[in-house]
Amino acid sequence: GESLDAGFFTRWMRAAADAMDREADRLTDLDSAIGDADHGTNMRRGFDAVRTALADEEPETPGAVLMLAGKKLVSTVGGASGPLYGTLLRRTGKALGDAPSVGVPELAEALRAGVDAVTQLGGAAPGDKTMLDALVPAVDAMPKGLDAASAAASEGAEATVPLLARKGRASYLGDRSIGHQDPGATSAALLVAALAHGGGE
Ligand code: ADP
Ligand code: MG
Ligand code: MG
Repeated sequence: GESLDAGFFTRWMRAAADAMDREADRLTDLDSAIGDADHGTNMRRGFDAVRTALADEEPETPGAVLMLAGKKLVSTVGGASGPLYGTLLRRTGKALGDAPSVGVPELAEALRAGVDAVTQLGGAAPGDKTMLDALVPAVDAMPKGLDAASAAASEGAEATVPLLARKGRASYLGDRSIGHQDPGATSAALLVAALAHGGGE
């Protein structure tokens, strides 16, 4: 199978930063409907810091790339999403250990550990209208490949529209959260799309 090295993971993070720049207004619009209208700026600020840190430090293994990225997200993104995305990437990076390159099956297994850590930290489950509604299907589909994971993440994000939010700010709205796509599920789908498309560029 494919062998994914530190360069691949760095390109993934750069592609994610590009996507958060490009889609910041859309993410903030989604968050203005069921949150506090800052998700786009949060994600853009966080991934800009990730991009800069990776260029400065040039980590040499996949695990080190993701642990640095996660650390930067925790330190630069306020709000719920910073610690949650930070935990996702740090825990995934930790699970990859110090291998110089990894295959898709190892990445899928490591991401599973990262998603489990997000679940533990935030207390949400799939169906609660959060980033997990994109991340869990993506990890489930990843044995079929990165494109399958990306498609599953997008579908999962779109499937949050009819859901009632049970975690985070959107949950304060109760029934009024129904009928809107979750901003964090949408950014999670962008992150997985960047893995499928940006990582290989
Ligand atoms: P804040 O709500 O603090 O302003 P953001 O707007 O950056 O933070 O992020 C909001 C997103 O965070 C939500 O759309 C949701 O996907 C995600 N989120 C919030 N709480 C949780 C949680 N407990 N578990 C998983 N994801 C969550
Ligand atoms: Mg917000
Ligand atoms: Mg906020």
